[in-house]
Amino acid sequence: MSKHLIVIGGGAAGFFCAINAARMDRSLKVTIIEKSNKLLSKVKVSGGGRCNVTHACFDIAEMSKRYPRGQHFVKKAFHQFFTKDIISWFEERHVKLKTEEDGRMFPVTDSSQTIIDCLIKEVNKFGVKILMNEEVKKINTQLSMFNVQCKSGEILDADFICIASGGYPKSSMFDWLKELGHTIEEPVPSLFTFNLPNHPITKLMGVSVGKVKVKIQNSKLEEEGPLLITHWGLSGPAVLRLSAWGARELKIKNYELKINISWLPGHNEESLRTKFRELRNINASQKVINKNSFGLPSRLWEFLAEQSDIKNEWRWADLPATEQNKFIKNLCSYECEVKGKTTFKEEFVTAGGIKLNEVDANTMKSKKVLNLFFAGEVLDVDGITGGFNFQHAWTSGFVAAKTIASS
Ligand SMILES: Cc1cc2nc3c(=O)[nH]c(=O)nc-3n(C[C@H](O)[C@H](O)[C@H](O)COP(=O)(O)OP(=O)(O)OC[C@H]3O[C@@H](n4cnc5c(N)ncnc54)[C@H](O)[C@@H]3O)c2cc1C
Repeated sequence: MSKHLIVIGGGAAGFFCAINAARMDRSLKVTIIEKSNKLLSKVKVSGGGRCNVTHACFDIAEMSKRYPRGQHFVKKAFHQFFTKDIISWFEERHVKLKTEEDGRMFPVTDSSQTIIDCLIKEVNKFGVKILMNEEVKKINTQLSMFNVQCKSGEILDADFICIASGGYPKSSMFDWLKELGHTIEEPVPSLFTFNLPNHPITKLMGVSVGKVKVKIQNSKLEEEGPLLITHWGLSGPAVLRLSAWGARELKIKNYELKINISWLPGHNEESLRTKFRELRNINASQKVINKNSFGLPSRLWEFLAEQSDIKNEWRWADLPATEQNKFIKNLCSYECEVKGKTTFKEEFVTAGGIKLNEVDANTMKSKKVLNLFFAGEVLDVDGITGGFNFQHAWTSGFVAAKTIASS
C-alpha cells in the first residue's frame, strides 16, 4: 500500500515539500490541507506583488548571517538546498529569475503569479491532492501512524506529516503543536518601523539618506544602511534590519528607546572637526545653511543646523565654537526618542515558533515525534528583508521532502 504524506499549510514551504516529495517518490500519496480559501497567498502579495523569491548570495556562511534567528539551523540546511538550487529549480520549469541592484531576486515577469502558476502546475503534474477551507485542529499519534482531525470533523490518516502552517502572532495559536510535545519560542513581531511621535524631524517626511548608522542606546544593536524619514518616524532598511535583530530586546523595552543616528557614518567627531576647519577656510563667505559639502539632503542639513541653533545668516567664517560643536554632535550622533512601532506591512514576519533544538536541520525531522516534519515560518527562523524568508521556506520544504521520499 502506498504511504500517505499530509502537508499542513498551502504556503511556499508546504507546496515545496508536497511537490518535491511527490516527485521524488512517485508511489507516495500527498495531500495539502489549507485552512483558508486561498493558496500561496503570501507568495501572491510578497515583494509588492512581484515575489522576492530569494537573494543573490551564493556563499552559505554569508547568507546565514542574514537570519537574526536560526543562523546555525539554516546554515546546515543550506548545504542541501541553497539559492543556486532554487534558481535552477525554477529555471528547469521555465521560470527565469533576475537580480536587482540590492541582490533581491524576482521572476523576470515581475509578477508573483508566475511563481504561483509554476507551483500549481507542478502540484497537478504529480497528483498532489489539495483540501481547502479545512483547518487542522489536532494531530493524534498512533504507533507509527497519524490521525489528523480537521475543523469540519473529517479525520485523515497519514504515515508522514509536514507542518508548514507559517508563523502565528499569538502563542496560544501554537497550542495544537504544543500538544505534540514541542516547545514554542514566544512569537514577537519582526520588521517594523520606529514611531517618533511629535518629533520635529517628521516634518522632513519623504527625505531619505543613502547610508546612516543607527545605534540603540544601552544595547549592542546598531545597523548601517539607507534611512527614510516618514510622517510617523523612521523607516528604511537600516531601521527594518535593526527591528529584526532587536525583535525580542525591543519588545522587552516595550518599543521605548533612545537611538543615535550618525548621518555621516564615515566620520567621527574628530574627523568632522578637521573637515569643518577646512570648510571654514574654503567657504568663509558662504552661509553655513546653504553650503552642505557632505552630500546630505539639503532639507536635512538645514534641519540639523537649525537644531544646533545656527542662524540662517551665519557664514562659515563667523560660526561660533559652541554652535559648531553642537552641529558636529548632531551630524555624528543625533539623538531621538522612539515611542512605539509601526508594522511594515509589505514584509511582515513573526519571530518565534517551534524551538530549533527540537528539529534536526539536516532532515527537518521532529526530534520528539517519529515521522513528523516541519518547514517554513512555523520554525523559529526569520530573516531580514530581501528574500531570505522565502529561501528558508524553499530549503526547509525541500529537505523535508527529500527525507520523506527516502524513508
Ligand atoms: C505581505 C508580505 C510580504 C512578504 N514579502 C516577502 C518577500 O518579498 N521576500 C521574503 O523572503 N519574504 C517575504 N515575506 C515573508 C514570507 O512571505 C514568509 O516568510 C513565507 O511566505 C512563509 O511561508 P510558509 O509557507 O512557511 O508560511 P505561509 O505562507 O504563512 O503559509 C502557511 C499556510 O498555512 C495555513 N495554515 C495555518 N494553520 C493551519 C492549520 N491549522 N490548518 C491548515 N492550514 C493552516 C495558512 O492559512 C497559510 O496559508 C512576506 C510576508 C508578507 C506577509
